[in-house]
Amino acid sequence: MARFMTLCSSSSGNAVYVGYQQYGILIDAGRNAKQLKLSLRDAGIDPASLKAIFVTHEHTDHVSALRVLASNLHIPVYATGGTLAALNNAGILDGRFPFEKLMPGGVAVGDMQVAPFATCHDAKESCGYRIDMPGCSVGIATDTGRVCAEMLETLSGCDLVLLESNYDEEMLEYGPYPPPLKARIRSGIGHLSNDDCAAAAALLLQSGVRRFVLGHLSRENNTPTLATVCTRNALKRMGAVPDRDFELLAAPVESMGKYMVI
Ligand SMILES: [Zn+2]
Ligand SMILES: [Zn+2]
Repeated sequence: MARFMTLCSSSSGNAVYVGYQQYGILIDAGRNAKQLKLSLRDAGIDPASLKAIFVTHEHTDHVSALRVLASNLHIPVYATGGTLAALNNAGILDGRFPFEKLMPGGVAVGDMQVAPFATCHDAKESCGYRIDMPGCSVGIATDTGRVCAEMLETLSGCDLVLLESNYDEEMLEYGPYPPPLKARIRSGIGHLSNDDCAAAAALLLQSGVRRFVLGHLSRENNTPTLATVCTRNALKRMGAVPDRDFELLAAPVESMGKYMVI
């Protein structure tokens, strides 16, 4: 049995748990280690059952708990070479936990095969992940300014995809952010809008994806309702019926509270 849960998901902290049988991994470790452990325990998951942490990129909302959690649990951290270099520059790789550079084919953690794919983001060498387990697969794609054909191909056919739905175009346009920050978010190396997410989800639906979790919603420039309505409408326009042909939900800012069985 495979399990999926977001421990936190927003511009202020991101961490995703994926479990298989008696063990699991984290994708990113934002917020703080104490809170992440608490969220796991609340869902009946022992933090000691974590075998590794995979990092998408070096931005603080993805790594603020990394050093404490990895050294506390004595588990390896995997990331691309560029991300490891950035983490090293930030003083996070302090020798208290092992780390390893990811190769394109990824790495096996027990029966989980975890492979990175490139994302388009203003970080050193950002990536998303596809996790293949016996009988099911999960894709995680956040922090990307656009969705390229290669990403879609990698995510196609996954049983569940966590897809970024960062901002509503209008809320960003008329919101409080300064123009340079708005431009950065909208750029090809920023974040996905609700419309971008909806377009990608429609293509993924065609590839066989049936479960969508929308993540990394901006607190300032989005709402869970706007994000879900946008993607739900796009999927309905494809002729798909909600809850029959697809499942869709927005990841809460805090923990989901319980895991989804995949
Ligand atoms: Zn980022
Ligand atoms: Zn982020």
